[in-house]
Amino acid sequence: SGTSFALGLVGAGIGRSLTPAMQEAEGRAHGLNLTYRRIDAEVRGLAVEDLPSVVHWAQALGFDGLNITHPFKQAVLPLLDEVSRAADDLGAVNTVVIRDGRLVGHNTDWSGWGRAFRSTLPDAVTDRAVVVGAGGAGLAVAYALLDQGAAHVAIHDTDIDRAEAAAIRLGKRFAAERIDAVTDVAAAITDADGLVNATPIGMHGHAGLPVPAALVEERLWVADVVYFPLETELVALARGRGCRVLPGGGMAVGQAVDAFELFTGRRADADRIARHFAEL
Ligand code: NAD
Repeated sequence: SGTSFALGLVGAGIGRSLTPAMQEAEGRAHGLNLTYRRIDAEVRGLAVEDLPSVVHWAQALGFDGLNITHPFKQAVLPLLDEVSRAADDLGAVNTVVIRDGRLVGHNTDWSGWGRAFRSTLPDAVTDRAVVVGAGGAGLAVAYALLDQGAAHVAIHDTDIDRAEAAAIRLGKRFAAERIDAVTDVAAAITDADGLVNATPIGMHGHAGLPVPAALVEERLWVADVVYFPLETELVALARGRGCRVLPGGGMAVGQAVDAFELFTGRRADADRIARHFAEL
């Protein structure tokens, strides 16, 4: 395999994404000439209809891979020659490897979150969990939990249709008795060992908690996918109560680790990427 890699991130409003810095630093550490560009749809005035051209030109200009983010993760699927089983299950691709004229789609949101979860909470992989938020992030988290052996995953969303759609999608891959869409989040947490926030609540500009503070008991592990800020209100509350926590940086680092390996064919150093991420 080569030592020179041209990569990019395609998404809208990605000016603050830490992915380019993580990928380039890991490339340098491997002695690779790895360049990673932002292709920001907001800056370039690109819409979902423009994605086929963007992907075509990335390929024509010799890009070796692309990360894909909001709002393109679904729209990219029909443009690919091959899609990994998990990305197909999730209906979302965040990593496209371009090699030998072929476009192959993967999803490292689920695998990256799962990697972070297993390294931080290794004894919790078979636990019962509640995932709050059934968008792309919640679906990826639930998929990872089920893939690594969670006894049960309850999915809660203020939009019950979204929770039910996620449960149906997951039920095509995993046993239906391990999955429920739930409206009563308090009852679900009472029955669970851990809680994941996969809503935007806690982000800068979306202050607050995704569930009532009283439900965050010491006996739970608590994970967040939000990582602007790294320490969300939920993570701070959980930490203060003595819960074990997995902040959202874990997912951001994990997806980058798996994407680096897919792009370059080299083993990424997850601890090194995490240390670098913490300095950014
Ligand atoms: P999305 O908008 O598709 O889904 C969010 C879901 O949360 C929606 O279905 C919404 O109805 C639901 N929701 C909102 N408030 C709720 C509440 N109080 N209770 C229950 N459900 C509620 O968004 P997404 O693409 O799934 O992303 C969610 C968040 O995940 C983003 O804000 C982003 O910060 C984060 N994210 C992080 C990473 C990472 O690498 N750490 C990766 C992807 C996404």
